[in-house]
Formats: sequence, structure tokens, C-alpha cells
Amino acid sequence: MVTVLKPGVTEDQIENLCNWFRTRGLDVHISRGHYQTIIGLIGDTKKVDVELLESLDIIEAVKTISEPFKNANRKFHPDDTVIDVNGVKIGGGNFVFIAGPCSVESEAQIIEVAQKVKAAGAHILRGGAFKPRTSPYDFQGLKDEGINLLLEAKKETGLPIITEIMNANHLPLFDDVDIIQVGARNMQNFDLLKELGRIKKPILLKRGLANNLKEFLMSAEYIMAGGNENIILCERGIRTFETYTRNTLDISAVPMLHELSHLPVVVDPSHSGGMARLVKPLSLSAAAAGADGLMIEVHNDPKNALCDGAQSLTPEQFSDVAERVRKVIEVAKQ
Ligand code: PEP
Ligand code: MN
Repeated sequence: MVTVLKPGVTEDQIENLCNWFRTRGLDVHISRGHYQTIIGLIGDTKKVDVELLESLDIIEAVKTISEPFKNANRKFHPDDTVIDVNGVKIGGGNFVFIAGPCSVESEAQIIEVAQKVKAAGAHILRGGAFKPRTSPYDFQGLKDEGINLLLEAKKETGLPIITEIMNANHLPLFDDVDIIQVGARNMQNFDLLKELGRIKKPILLKRGLANNLKEFLMSAEYIMAGGNENIILCERGIRTFETYTRNTLDISAVPMLHELSHLPVVVDPSHSGGMARLVKPLSLSAAAAGADGLMIEVHNDPKNALCDGAQSLTPEQFSDVAERVRKVIEVAKQ
């Protein structure tokens, strides 16, 4: 349920109203917009007398939210959420390029890629340290050593870093990581999501391989319900009957998620198509559809990459994609 307050309501009146809700066992979420303040209510709202609320002179409207996701819902928070990652803003018209290898492989590799993607306009460096591989015999990542190498690259270039967590017990290793990624395979690892709700660090949540948008937003809700509202949603393609591409990029997820939620939406064209030559067209379409950013796999030597080489761009190819995407963003803004 949300209560829309009339313009000009004072802070004291807001506080009194919130206290009244709290005494009824409800959690309140205050969203101060340009023109209006909205108070979202979470919990058993059956205890609230809607007619009484509507009769108060500070209240303009009371609306119920039928969707099961509340904190993530745009009705709760009409303005776009802007996530600030060490000065890099994501969402609300701030477009971000996240680039780097699927996996961190060596110091030389990650530093070279970091420097080159930075020169091409990337804002954030990605690199997997703990890798969720389909086969247990494939490269599993450099683990804590991989995180240390990402931190080296961060020191070298100043780029904030993002890397994937697979196990909540590893959280202490992520203290200096700027964004924690939850991979597609862990989108419904509810215990992990609850743990990430207890911290304040930004979380990039990837859509599961076969999850619909309601399930995706409910996973964001798990993190937000714990108090962490810094969520970036990432559409990375879903499983369909199509076999020519690794996954099917659900481009309609971008405007639909923006309609349903205030959270930023980033697209990963690398895992969507699974082929380097598809990254440019998928990136351009994501930008045109209003995505708040792209996460692109870039490797200094894709042919010899230990993971996902076929879908990885060279730094030069990334530079070309980024330049064209910037043009699309300019046109889409008009
Ligand atoms: C990744 O980003 O390296 C990754 C494993 O992606 P996904 O979880 O989308 O498969
Ligand atoms: Mn990958």
C-alpha cells in the first residue's frame, strides 16, 4: 500500500504519520519526489483503515499495490533510483559501461584489459574470481587471488570493480569490491540474497536462466527487504527453444522492468548471444531500448581465454562498440 501526501506537508506531520503506521506493526518507506512525498507501507496492511487514512487532510490518495514486490516497485518510488559507485552513477539517465574479462587469469591480463577498457570509456571493471562453471573440470577461477588482482587493477586505473559471489561465507573477501554480482545461477539462492540484504554495498543481480520478470523482481525484493536498496538489475538473456544463440536477449525486459521498477537495468549482451559478433547489435538495441548500461566481456586474447573466449571482444572491438552505443544514447535522448 502507498499513501500519497499532499504537497506542502511538513516533516513533523510525516514523522507523526510514520509513527502511527509503525505502531500498527508496519515498516515504512519514504520516497521524497520532486513534487510529492510517498509513504510505502510494508507488512500486513489489513490493519490499516483506508477510509480513515483517506479522510486525513495531509493525504491525497491511498493506493494498494497488487504486485508481490513492494520495495522494488515503481509505485513505491516513482523516481528512478540512481546508484552511486564511488562517484560513478548508474540509472536515472546515467549510462554506464562495465567491461572486462569473464575471468581474472593473471596480473598482466587484468591490468592490460583494465587500462584498455578505461581508455575506451569503461566506467567499471568486471572480472570473475569465483566462477560458476557448468562442468566441474573447467577453470573455476582464481578465487581470493583473483579478487586481489582486481584490487591491483583498481589501484592502477582507478576503476571501481565488480565480481561475482557464489557463497555468503566469502563475503569478507568482498570488503573492497565496489559491486557484488549475483550470477544467473544464484538468482534464487535465497539465503545468499538475504545475506546481501544485510550489507549496503551495491548488488548487480542477474536474471536467472529461466526466470520471469516477477521472479526476478522478487529476488531483488529479498535483498531490499533486508535493507539494501542498492540493486542493479541485469538482463543477460534467457533460455528459449532457440539454439543458434547461447541465450535469447529479452529486449522487452528493459522497458518492462523500467515500468515495473525504479531500479536501474543493465544489459549483458555477451552472455545473451554467446558470440563476439552479436555483441555490437545487441548492445545497440539495448541502448535504444533505454538500458542504463552494458556489461561486456573483453579479453586481451579471446582465442586463448580460460572462459567464454567466443563471446569476448578485444579491447579494440569494445572501443568501437562503446563509441557507437554513445551515438545511440544521444539519439535516444532526443
Ligand atoms: C558472468 O557474468 O561471468 C556470468 C557467469 O554470467 P551469468 O551468471 O549471467 O551466466
Ligand atoms: Mn562469462
